[in-house]
Amino acid sequence: MAKRIALVAHDARKEIIVEWARENATQLAGFSICATGTTGGRLQAEAGLEVERLLSGPLGGDAQLGAMIAEGRLDALFFFIDPLSALPHDVDVKSLLRLAILYDTPLAINKATADAVLSHLAQA
Ligand code: PGA
Repeated sequence: MAKRIALVAHDARKEIIVEWARENATQLAGFSICATGTTGGRLQAEAGLEVERLLSGPLGGDAQLGAMIAEGRLDALFFFIDPLSALPHDVDVKSLLRLAILYDTPLAINKATADAVLSHLAQA
């Protein structure tokens, strides 16, 4: 069965995750991909990825991903966090990161770590 990964990006980082996904489209096609609502829509439209779209992050999508991690249903999280603005749903961001740390889920937060996690998954 294909490994399941999640792709999430805050608004200021969506352009970057789309660009990264385009660059790695061939490799990403081998995974079962889920994404928060808006990120997922852009990945489908602009990078041609097949994506299971969850709720938008601030509306519960981050919490859905946290539940997947806690239930052992997510193999890696690619979470492109906005490093420059405070976000109203910071509690969800913290909760998702906390669960990824707790369950030792491979976690990428920018392009450099996304490349590293992707090659790790290819070898694992
Ligand atoms: P979005 O959610 O993809 O629906 O914009 C991202 C987030 O803020 O977690």
